[in-house]
Amino acid sequence: MKTIGLIGGMSWESTQTYYRILNETVKARLGGLHSAKILLYSVDFGEVEAWMRADDWAAVEHHLTRIARRLKRAGADLLLICTNTMHRLAAAVEAAAELPLLHIADPTADAIKARGLQRVALLGTRITMEAPFYRQRLETGGLAVLTPTASQRQQVDEIIFKELCLGKILPASRIVYRDIIADLAAAGAQGVILGCTEIGLLIGPQDSPLPLFDTTELHAQAAVEMAMAEVNRIVG
Ligand code: GLU
Repeated sequence: MKTIGLIGGMSWESTQTYYRILNETVKARLGGLHSAKILLYSVDFGEVEAWMRADDWAAVEHHLTRIARRLKRAGADLLLICTNTMHRLAAAVEAAAELPLLHIADPTADAIKARGLQRVALLGTRITMEAPFYRQRLETGGLAVLTPTASQRQQVDEIIFKELCLGKILPASRIVYRDIIADLAAAGAQGVILGCTEIGLLIGPQDSPLPLFDTTELHAQAAVEMAMAEVNRIVG
């Protein structure tokens, strides 16, 4: 089993979910006391969020590429960035680390296509929903992407940063998300990407008439597949 390097802490609320799913997935695969080999670098999200808010992506890139190199030196064999938004810098992080990086949108697109769906809604931070880096990756993979209206995008983003990343799970915000999903379903979406690693803390399948694709779960599960690729070869 390879060692999975995590760039986490964005926010730590969802990095906990990564840690749990990685370990549960290895346990399900190998049984007994087996667990995932993980190196975690957890950032101070206050610093990173301030750079992002100030649109200082050079500072974010400097920080994340430095962390990626440190994870490589520490012995990571592959890398995950435990947030959708920071995949804006995925190419730079991968190049700096000289390690394979599992892009969060890829296992997500694979899962959507495996369900036979083509037209999906994307919920996430404003950057994830509005900047081209994420949407284009999905579209290149053959998917059509719908996003909420501008005011709904603002609401979705605010709930992420002012509540979910702070561990606040509020029923009123769950209703906001449910209503937005209902609108997206009416607009023709066949499924919904939970394209922010904290959204799964707020809503689940019971809140949606459409299938949900939780990027945290799909990313972590695919990472285990990647880490165990050699084991697979030996076993079968
Ligand atoms: N965890 C969130 C995401 O998946 C948002 C935090 C961030 O800006 O990195 O995009």
